[in-house]
Amino acid sequence: MERGFETKCIYGDGTKFEGEQTGSISFPIYQTATFAHPAVGQSTGYDYSRMQNPTRQQLEQVVASLEGGVDALAFSSGMAAMTALMELFHPGDHIITDSDLYGGSIRLFRSVSRKNGILFSHIDCTAENVEPYIRENTRAILIETPTNPMMNVIDIRTLAETARRHGILLIVDNTFLSPYFQKPLTLGADIVLHSGTKFLGGHNDTLAGFLVTAQAEVSEQLRFIFKTVGSGLAPFDSWLILRGIKTLPVRMERAQENAKAIVEYLSGEHRVRKVYYPGIPGTRAYEICRRQASGFGSMVTFEVESQKLAHHILKSTRLIPFAESLGGVETLLTYPTTQTHADVPVEIQQKNGITDRVLRLSVGIEAKEDLIQDLKQAMDSFEKPF
Ligand SMILES: *Cc1c(COP(=O)(O)O)cnc(C)c1O
Repeated sequence: MERGFETKCIYGDGTKFEGEQTGSISFPIYQTATFAHPAVGQSTGYDYSRMQNPTRQQLEQVVASLEGGVDALAFSSGMAAMTALMELFHPGDHIITDSDLYGGSIRLFRSVSRKNGILFSHIDCTAENVEPYIRENTRAILIETPTNPMMNVIDIRTLAETARRHGILLIVDNTFLSPYFQKPLTLGADIVLHSGTKFLGGHNDTLAGFLVTAQAEVSEQLRFIFKTVGSGLAPFDSWLILRGIKTLPVRMERAQENAKAIVEYLSGEHRVRKVYYPGIPGTRAYEICRRQASGFGSMVTFEVESQKLAHHILKSTRLIPFAESLGGVETLLTYPTTQTHADVPVEIQQKNGITDRVLRLSVGIEAKEDLIQDLKQAMDSFEKPF
């Protein structure tokens, strides 16, 4: 019988606690740069922490098991993972990406990757048929779903079939739903990327990133890049993410429950123009999300009636911090246009609907009444003289 997801979050696929003589329940932090060899030509399996470290390996094994991958690589941040991923490609290679992506990814593609000769087409993968954009030199399709920050949902299975037909890779940034709600590799994707800083870590206290692969060959290429470029996750940070993952299922459930309550409140708030959340029935995003994921997550984007009101809310919440990032136990309010998506060209921002009236909430696990009360007092105090 396959082990349940919740059990894997704590033990991965391993039996009991392998290799530990002390009986320590928490996996030890191997805070060492290098490892001694018994003799010439012999190794314990560990040579140097850039290449292998037991704490990082334990984390990688857990994440690979959660995503159903053959291997996972833990990086020092999500962007370090994305940067290493780009090293799979050569000058002249072409990548199709969805136009609604994390702003940092777009910045990497437009500055660093493009300088290195990689070509990009940014298209709307929700609306357009991707096939006509595939050229002879196309090597990959890269998406995020739900998209950031507009919460559109892309059909992973359909794209995976297209990618397979053309012999190209499908790469999915699965940060928003985490493997608790969505497992792209089981839907046909080849590589999953994570900002482990977000839901996997879950406590807004450390950065991390992951690449999870479905094929040994891709994993081997990435392992070579990994040890060569040296952006692996440090032992202590690996331990923090391991600890965070143990509570991933209960955090995801609770945050989603809170998000649904907030969506309901926002939908009835007369100063809110539109709420973007895949869990609202009657939309295409809802139907696709229901087919390919087991939940809708806890990211909520909403548009208010004016830029002035948006600014007012950001400075008037008493409990909810105005901060970049997501996926932690703390609810955070983000202003995509000046924060996560500031470096995205204005025309792409506008095309995607990222206006100066759009706010993004990463809903945490606080008491939902407190969160709603805080948002309500911020809205209600607008244009009052005190
Ligand atoms: C935050 C984020 C990243 C970048 O990860 P870092 O850990 O901040 O480097 C990539 N993709 C998505 C969807 C993100 O939210």
